[in-house]
Amino acid sequence: MRILIVEDEQKVAGALQEGLEGEHYEAAIAETGEDAFFRASAERFDLILLDVMLPGRDGLEVLRTLREQGVQTPVLLLTARDTLEDRVLGLDSGADDYLVKPFAFEELLARIRALLRRGRIDDALSLGVSDLHMDLLTRKVDRAGQPVDLTTREFELLEYLLRRQGRTVSRETLARDVWKVTERATPIDNVIDVHIARLRRKIDAGGAPRLIHTVRGVGFALGETAP
Ligand code: CA
Repeated sequence: MRILIVEDEQKVAGALQEGLEGEHYEAAIAETGEDAFFRASAERFDLILLDVMLPGRDGLEVLRTLREQGVQTPVLLLTARDTLEDRVLGLDSGADDYLVKPFAFEELLARIRALLRRGRIDDALSLGVSDLHMDLLTRKVDRAGQPVDLTTREFELLEYLLRRQGRTVSRETLARDVWKVTERATPIDNVIDVHIARLRRKIDAGGAPRLIHTVRGVGFALGETAP
């Protein structure tokens, strides 16, 4: 599997390359939008990791041009921006998924595996389990066809659990990846518990089979059955 890393910060690009090669991916680096465009047009890659913040032509511009030229390689956008507008803009420009910096390397690997597995844009833009469905582009969630109204944080939390369905996720991981809090403390654990409880009331309401499970002493898991 060949991955093209498009990142102008040499340190970051080098660390990504080293990490990916450690996972047995072949990884090449392009430091500018122009370089990325030439390589992606001339060579075959299975995936492009594209940083949005690049000097000259930024990532979104590179992406739009690639798609206009018919390059269909899956693109995972790396962005420091985390607003709904930017996310939609990124996905509208032809990205298959996005990851907000700073991210854990494990998270990046999970997204890469998912994209390589799916390989299709339509699938990558939605997540689901049982009769629960999440559309990443419109940011809408429904269960059994009934719309579920979520806050931004609840949406992020559910998205995180959906991407790891069937696996137990600890409060520590949630604090780090969803709340971006690195120091573990009781207050953040309480905040997480409150959000899980709210999400449960919205998702697992009305006697529907339970999808969010508590794993005692560890954390939570999403799935049709408890892990
Ligand atoms: Ca950059």
